[in-house]
Order: sequence, then structure tokens, then C-alpha cells
Amino acid sequence: MKIAVNRGRCTGIGICESISPAYFEVGDDGVLILVRATVGDADRAEVEEAVRSCPAAALTIVDD
Ligand code: SF4
Repeated sequence: MKIAVNRGRCTGIGICESISPAYFEVGDDGVLILVRATVGDADRAEVEEAVRSCPAAALTIVDD
């Protein structure tokens, strides 16, 4: 699975980073950095929680 970011929706609040810092990082400029876009099976539940928790609904999961 992969993570897709709708940058028009992301407000840089960083909830995703607090839940799953190995995948999400908000830079000093408030812009979200996807540290890794491809999610390993072991991390799936954590990343899904981060995606669900985004208040701006900016994240989606794409199954490959
Ligand atoms: S939680 Fe959502 S709005 Fe906040 S930084 Fe992450 S993707 Fe952007």
C-alpha cells in the first residue's frame, strides 16, 4: 500500500506525524514531508490510524 497526500487540503497540523513519525514529518515551513510513501505490512495499522486521524481528510491509502 502507498500513501497519497492531497496537498490542497493539508493544513500542516501534524497529527499524522504524532501518530506515525516514521512516515510523516511536518517541516518548519508547515509543509508535510512524506518520509516514506510505501507502507510495509507491519506498519499498516499505524499508518491507517494516522490517515483516519487527519482532521483535514488530506490522506488516503492506495493499495497496490
Ligand atoms: S494530519 Fe492531515 S492536515 Fe495534518 S499534517 Fe498530517 S496530512 Fe496534513
